[in-house]
Amino acid sequence: METKYGFIKLSPTEFEKYIDELKIARTVVKIQQHHTYIPSYVHFNGNNHFERQKGMQQSHLNNGWSDIGQHFSIFPDGMILTGRSLEQTPAGIKGANTHAICIENVGDFDKGKDEMNAKQKDAIVAVTAALCKKFNLTPNTNNILYHHWYRLDNGIRNNGAGGNKSCPGTNFFGGNKVEDCEKNFLPLVIAKSKAKNNEKPIVPIKYVYVLASSLRIRKGPATTYALVTDRMPAMFGAVLRVYEQKAGWFRISSSAQHWVSAAYTKEVKRAVVNASTLNVRSGPGTGFSKNGSLNKGDEVFVYETKNGWCRIGIELNWVTSQFLDFQ
Ligand SMILES: [Zn+2]
Repeated sequence: METKYGFIKLSPTEFEKYIDELKIARTVVKIQQHHTYIPSYVHFNGNNHFERQKGMQQSHLNNGWSDIGQHFSIFPDGMILTGRSLEQTPAGIKGANTHAICIENVGDFDKGKDEMNAKQKDAIVAVTAALCKKFNLTPNTNNILYHHWYRLDNGIRNNGAGGNKSCPGTNFFGGNKVEDCEKNFLPLVIAKSKAKNNEKPIVPIKYVYVLASSLRIRKGPATTYALVTDRMPAMFGAVLRVYEQKAGWFRISSSAQHWVSAAYTKEVKRAVVNASTLNVRSGPGTGFSKNGSLNKGDEVFVYETKNGWCRIGIELNWVTSQFLDFQ
């Protein structure tokens, strides 16, 4: 495990331990797969992981972004570099960044370009499986997402029917379509998840979202307890998992005494879309403009309800409640 420029370099085995032990306040329900296109294999010399990661960060800062867009980069030799804080929403896929983790696989995986190394393949599968385990996600094409499935202009998912990037590449695990993912990629992730000793996940008693710009985490349920210093505070809009409540405080870790003040949070409900397509609108009614759409099986968090409509985030994105199954 090596650190440079604020990034950590990990092997897949080190990553599994790292992510297992890491305390993450934000609830994640989507994992994005990308390829970098540039840098591609010719730009990687076997030793310049940190320089390439820093280069991508600089180019993203030049875009006007707050930091590097992705949470992880996976290199041709199978090494993984950390990027953006996991408490921050990524800049990965317009239309699918909320509650997501963004993985950039270094290379150009369009047909006829870079042939993906076996070590990188294994690392992509291992990282995806470890993240599914961490966030208790059953690998499927509602929660493992290819950039190609979203239109670039409006962020609507159309599964690559037009107006899309080829990312993560027309030859990414044999193709970038939903069928390719189901046929070639998901079985590897599922097999890898099963290979691990799967303890029963601890189910939260409820979910809340953060109202403050950042919310400090303490070692007990009162301001007299010390701050937890080895993790980031929870950020505005993030959905937290609550495992215990006491005197106006919520414990947000299943394994540690990590508490936040309930006063700076508001309850949200987790729900699953049960219609084949569900329109997302800019307000609570069919008269409001369409912002996008969701598919059957997509998971959402409901932040507010009004006249049978649900706001599914901090932005003005509303869906009718009749096509949501609440947990
Ligand atoms: Zn992409």
